[in-house]
Amino acid sequence: MNTFNNLINGEWIAGNSQSPNHNPSNLADIVGHYTQADAAQLDLAVQAAQAAFPAWRNGSIQARSDALDKIGSEILARKEELGTLLAREEGKTQPEGMGEVTRAGQIFKFFAGECLRLAGETLPSVRPNIGVEITREPVGVVGLITPWNFPIAIPAWKIAPALAFGNCVVLKPADLVPGSAWALAEIISRSGIPAGVFNLVMGPGRVTGEALVNHPGVDAISFTGSVGVGRRIAQTCAQNLKKVQLEMGGKNPQVILDDADLAQAVELSVQSCFYATGQRCTASSRLIVTDRIYPEFIAAMQRRMAAIQVGDACQAGIDIGPVVSQAQLEQDLSYVEIGQAEGASLLIGGERLSRATDGYFMAPALFVDSTPAMRINREEIFGPVASVIRVKDYEQALAVANDTPFGLSAGIATTSLKYATHFKRHAQAGMVMVNLPTAGVDYHVPFGGRKGSSYGPREQGRYAAEFYTMVKTAYTLA
Ligand code: NDP
Repeated sequence: MNTFNNLINGEWIAGNSQSPNHNPSNLADIVGHYTQADAAQLDLAVQAAQAAFPAWRNGSIQARSDALDKIGSEILARKEELGTLLAREEGKTQPEGMGEVTRAGQIFKFFAGECLRLAGETLPSVRPNIGVEITREPVGVVGLITPWNFPIAIPAWKIAPALAFGNCVVLKPADLVPGSAWALAEIISRSGIPAGVFNLVMGPGRVTGEALVNHPGVDAISFTGSVGVGRRIAQTCAQNLKKVQLEMGGKNPQVILDDADLAQAVELSVQSCFYATGQRCTASSRLIVTDRIYPEFIAAMQRRMAAIQVGDACQAGIDIGPVVSQAQLEQDLSYVEIGQAEGASLLIGGERLSRATDGYFMAPALFVDSTPAMRINREEIFGPVASVIRVKDYEQALAVANDTPFGLSAGIATTSLKYATHFKRHAQAGMVMVNLPTAGVDYHVPFGGRKGSSYGPREQGRYAAEFYTMVKTAYTLA
């Protein structure tokens, strides 16, 4: 039996119990057994991080940069193997898995540079003979809690800036997919980073995650996951005056205007809604289509979706892998029923599929004749289920796009500079895409949303320093 332990203070330590990591394409295939940390082990990890912090924060930025660069290089060199592991545990296709692993490697390399570029400011004082310096310092021990849908990229985009700017880390990955995070921790453990600077504690959110959030030795929490859990974490952090950053759900609109390039609009809609099995916080699930292009668009979507190959994530020629778990599959299928009960018409898909192996396969579903008030257009489904809302013109499309409690990503397909420019300014989202899918972002620029999608400073790019550092203002009499 393959077992994988927690990394605490540079040692691989078993917890009291273990959890099997299943392949959602083939339930008979167990990726490995991953140990579960209890509150006592979590406490050891936090203590190790606290003890390692003074030397790490005051240490050489060259050493930090070299370690991050080394981690990035190894991830990139092993992208095929790690991409296969990711596809096996999460159900993204192998090419999608390799893409995510590549992203993780690039992020470490980016922050290998950023840790050398952390600039401050010098200003004259309003008083004579005084200088003012503004510098950034690490926050301390940072707790990172990550979801199952990006098992290596999200840990990477939190760990890399945390370490780059001199913090120590305790990572709690999603219990459903700990394999990629474990592989990343193993790479980090050999990078030259001192024991205790980076710690991995696996286990369920309600035990290990809560213990991390509540621990008085943790100075900040960066969380990506659902809105419900995020809200609770924010409340706990506020009570304890802990710094907090939340990235949560989305109900991202994709507007298709009459003047759009039809083939491009169909392709980017299929990408947005269904690739990675629709399990991306930036996935679109609301296609908002203007009157004139609507009939052609629907017909073209139906043809294109009929050609999508759903199957084993590790097999060649597959477009879309399985849903991640039984619970997620049940949720997706229940929204198909909810949509029908609400009066939307199911154009295509929405049924469970059987394949050679027992897995959570589902045909991507598209509803038409849906209205903005329907639950399928308001609640995050987080699977391959999308719906089309017909509108009369751009103004109505924009109003419908913004009529959501979320605000992560918003897309528009149009050949009109006027509408594209207006949409970029008026879409209530943290990220706007013109003639591009709502999902698919660069790693060197900020990532995040508004309204119910995000809370606190942005992640990624140089903006990551906002969360992973504290500002100090120093006055010196000349
Ligand atoms: P969850 O909120 O269920 O879990 C996210 C993480 O929080 C997991 O590690 C989970 O642990 C942990 N957790 C659960 N309960 C607690 C708790 N009480 N205290 C502390 N930690 C806890 O989300 P999912 O994993 O189901 O991920 C899907 C969600 O993530 C979707 O809503 C999606 O939109 C969002 N997401 C947002 C992104 C963004 O950047 N905006 C990117 C990717 C996903 P465990 O799994 O072990 O229970």
